[in-house]
Amino acid sequence: MATARVDLEGNLVKPITICMIGAGGFIGSHLCEKLLAETPHVVLAVDVYNDKIRHLLEPSGGMSPQWADRIQFHRLNIKNDSRLEGLIKMADLTINLAAICTPADYNTRPLDTIYSNFIDALPVVKYCSENGKRLIHFSTCEIYGKTIGSFLPKDSPLRGDPAYYLLKEDESPCIFGSIEKQRWSYACAKQLIERLIYAEGSENGLEFTIVRPFNWIGPRMDFIPGIDGPSEGVPRVLACFSNNLLRREPLKLVDGGQSQRTFVYIKDAIEAVVLMIENPARANGQIFNVGNPNNEVTVRQLAEMMTQVYSKVTGESPLDTPTIDVSSKEFYGEGYDDSDKRIPDMTIINRQLGWNPKTSLWDLLESTLTYQHRTYAEAIKKATNKPVAS
Ligand code: NAD
Ligand code: UDP
Repeated sequence: MATARVDLEGNLVKPITICMIGAGGFIGSHLCEKLLAETPHVVLAVDVYNDKIRHLLEPSGGMSPQWADRIQFHRLNIKNDSRLEGLIKMADLTINLAAICTPADYNTRPLDTIYSNFIDALPVVKYCSENGKRLIHFSTCEIYGKTIGSFLPKDSPLRGDPAYYLLKEDESPCIFGSIEKQRWSYACAKQLIERLIYAEGSENGLEFTIVRPFNWIGPRMDFIPGIDGPSEGVPRVLACFSNNLLRREPLKLVDGGQSQRTFVYIKDAIEAVVLMIENPARANGQIFNVGNPNNEVTVRQLAEMMTQVYSKVTGESPLDTPTIDVSSKEFYGEGYDDSDKRIPDMTIINRQLGWNPKTSLWDLLESTLTYQHRTYAEAIKKATNKPVAS
């Protein structure tokens, strides 16, 4: 039952209506759950899909009855639906999560990627600005691109100096590859929409917050190919490796798995978003890194840890050859490129919202892989036992 809530100044938080675009996705589903369970706010959930929030929409899905009147699902594509402006007008705050955001799409569907991340977001920004509505827009850590340090000689001691790799919202440059490296179509589109939102803020007074997620992971992320997504589909690394583990296949390390990432547990990250929602005076006009600088690993180390954790939660022994190397060209096709290292500077989010992530990589993988096994192991068994067509 939602109780009275106070903001960081100790003032009572008034219930608001939130138009959440992309509410049916990974982050949206966790944000909807949190808002319904712990706050009095109303959610107008906009998406083309609702599978990941169906449990919140159907009273029989275990949802407690007092939530039912606080979430409404609107199935619409923001590319071409005139109902969008009305929903934004009805709400106090719009949160835009809608995007194509899987790297396998950036170099193979660059037009869709650019349209989704820039063109389709334009009306959302415009309607918020024209109607005096607050906007929380989801950007990406990928906006930083490569680190300055990645251009130093491999053995340069400066590579160990945070000045060359720590990613700061108000200081770091955005360093992308050349145009034929279409991987950067996503980051570039996100950068331009960030600049547009920022300009709407400075020229027209739009109240905005920009979120740059650093590899948020957890249950319900993406899909398992051939089970709840296309067999040939390539999701983000958590789902790729989960799929390999569930099928007892080696995990594929792209270009040796040397890239580094910091992973944050979705439930920790959602706490940061709720703080932004309920503390507009501290969040407006800000760009926030949201990640866990303590959970840094190479992709190879991630594969090794996921193999160990999966073995612990299932009791199955790991394969003799748990990983194999693949080239990025083979795995993603022409035009792929990679971010070398992503460590968020936490100064701004700490100062404005006092937020810190809590969950270690091991712990978040343990709860996530327990979920993956519980959700998919039977379906995989059925799918792989099917007789082969002659
Ligand atoms: P997701 O793909 O699970 O969710 C996106 C949702 O948007 C999907 O449900 C999709 O159906 C919906 N959508 C897309 N286009 C739409 C349209 N035209 N009309 C209506 N709905 C549409 O992705 P996610 O991981 O939840 O990411 C949400 C946001 O956060 C994205 O903007 C993404 O770029 C950003 N982000 C996420 C991460 C992360 O770690 N998960 C990292 C960086 C950035
Ligand atoms: N990756 C990998 N094997 C896979 C999937 C991804 O080695 O099966 C690598 C990918 O090349 C990148 C990292 O894992 O270096 C993270 O990829 P993800 O798709 O999660 O997105 P990113 O962090 O690049 O946005």
